[in-house]
Amino acid sequence: MRIIHLATGNAHKAQEMQALADASGLPVRIVAAAKMPPVAEDTGTFTGNARKKARALQALLPPDAWVLADDSGVCVDALDGGPGVESAYFAGPEHDAAANLRKLTEVMREVPAGARAARFLCVLLLLDPDGTEQVFEGRCEGVLALEPAGGKGFGYDPLFVPAGGDRTYAELTDAEKNRLSHRSLAWRLLADALRPELA
Ligand code: IMP
Repeated sequence: MRIIHLATGNAHKAQEMQALADASGLPVRIVAAAKMPPVAEDTGTFTGNARKKARALQALLPPDAWVLADDSGVCVDALDGGPGVESAYFAGPEHDAAANLRKLTEVMREVPAGARAARFLCVLLLLDPDGTEQVFEGRCEGVLALEPAGGKGFGYDPLFVPAGGDRTYAELTDAEKNRLSHRSLAWRLLADALRPELA
């Protein structure tokens, strides 16, 4: 069993990552950082932000620690790829998910159906004890609905309709979302990379 320290103080995120690891059949235990140092997510890229979080946590841990960090967001063609790395604070620095969702709904209000392409991206960055990094990126293509729909999930879930379907992320069951989400696709790549050495 490999212990991997997750560069977040958010216990919910650690549980979600553990579920994804379990679904991948990977013998790992995900541990949320007991004390995550504050990190400014200001590099302008998902990978750069994940790297900052991972390295900030690794600096506090014993030398044999494995560390994982993630960064994610929604990239909208009609907004030149925005909000992208700024997804968490699109409507302001308070990280208010409801306000972010309202703002995205409003700024997209006049954009016609054929021009509403978007994708969710997730970068997972794994640091081994030597500080060598491996980066895994998952993406889920889709379109933005005209109005939010569905009560599950979080963040922008009620507005995002994955390609090939007609329901938003927020209308899918957890199992359905986990089959196609950007985060689960990134996890699958990470699991493929770790499986040979952990099997
Ligand atoms: P972070 O990766 O924790 O920095 O979060 C980035 C932001 O992207 C979150 O605040 C959410 O608003 C958004 N986001 C990332 N993944 C998802 C998702 O699966 N559903 C809905 N929103 C998401």
